[in-house]
Amino acid sequence: EFRALLTQRDEAGEVTNRVERLPIEHLPEGDVLVSVEWAGFNYKDGLCLGGLGNLVRSYPHVGGVDFAGRVIESRDARYHPGQAVILTGWRVGESHWGGFAERARVKADWLVPLPKRLSTRDSMVLGTAGLTVMLAVNRLRLLGIAPQSGEIVVTGAGGGVGSQAVMMLGRLGYRVVAISGRPELAEPLLRLGASEVLGRDAIMTQSGKVLDKERFAGAIDTVGGAMLPELLKKIRSDGAVAAVGNAAGVSFEASVIPFILRGVSLLGINSVTVPYEMRVALWDRLSSLFVAGAYERMVTEIGLAEIPTYAERILAGGVAGRVVINPRR
Ligand code: NAP
Repeated sequence: EFRALLTQRDEAGEVTNRVERLPIEHLPEGDVLVSVEWAGFNYKDGLCLGGLGNLVRSYPHVGGVDFAGRVIESRDARYHPGQAVILTGWRVGESHWGGFAERARVKADWLVPLPKRLSTRDSMVLGTAGLTVMLAVNRLRLLGIAPQSGEIVVTGAGGGVGSQAVMMLGRLGYRVVAISGRPELAEPLLRLGASEVLGRDAIMTQSGKVLDKERFAGAIDTVGGAMLPELLKKIRSDGAVAAVGNAAGVSFEASVIPFILRGVSLLGINSVTVPYEMRVALWDRLSSLFVAGAYERMVTEIGLAEIPTYAERILAGGVAGRVVINPRR
């Protein structure tokens, strides 16, 4: 038996989440059985546990879109018992049972070995958020956006992806302008590596013009919605916005003028289906940049039973930094 946060939906369509004991046989098909040591917690987990976004299609369900742990048994030659592994993406926690449990059974193709420099906990402090930031940074770099190009703005900076973006960009030598709606997070964000922390109104200027004053060489946007077009208007010539998230909404209305008069690029970032070799390379890079102590103030540790409260909180924009889950707690 193992403990899991089981997500169920009743006939009326109401979704509930409760910690239960389940027999191992209830786990879905897969080649690798993992003892989950840490799970991450993401905006998408909030959506899945709330039955939102049409992400979870069949119930009962176990959520948790990223986790790390040790292999118990494997039918795949790449993994052996005792080996530490990381899982992110592949719709685990959405269409396949995920990490909000003491055990998970998954496809070997979805895993990567834990880099030597990281503990399983470190890897979930980074989690999908860290991987996504690394993808976004690589895309900006490919366009030649380097530290000397100018400031990079990070929206939703107080959240999981945003705070990791602030830390990673800072470590890479960029001047980072962090946008947060929570003034109380200014001090921790400055400590993490932001050069400046501004309120959301710094971006939401809503001048009504198609272009604002050029300021940022690039952006990592975790907010989307109405903030994205306001951001595009403030990007310098040949700069780019990496569109990562939708915390403020999925649609936006924008002018094409920043694209055609300033050559601004809009880059789509998808962390769900990153090929194996690239995931390994991204984790290697993350492990060399991550300083556990420097980020620890932004980490909240919880157990399975506390997840539903955090699910509501993250959808309301009320979670700071990264939450990690210890399923044995
Ligand atoms: P999170 O911790 O909740 O961070 C989102 C942050 O956005 C919040 O902390 C808040 O920061 C800000 N925010 C929330 N509501 C807002 C609003 N209405 N207007 C303006 N700002 C708002 O979530 P996360 O796990 O970091 O994920 C962030 C986003 O990235 C989500 O949309 C998620 O789905 C997406 N994501 C995408 C990928 C990918 O592969 N593309 C991977 C991971 C995550 P402040 O309070 O500091 O302003």
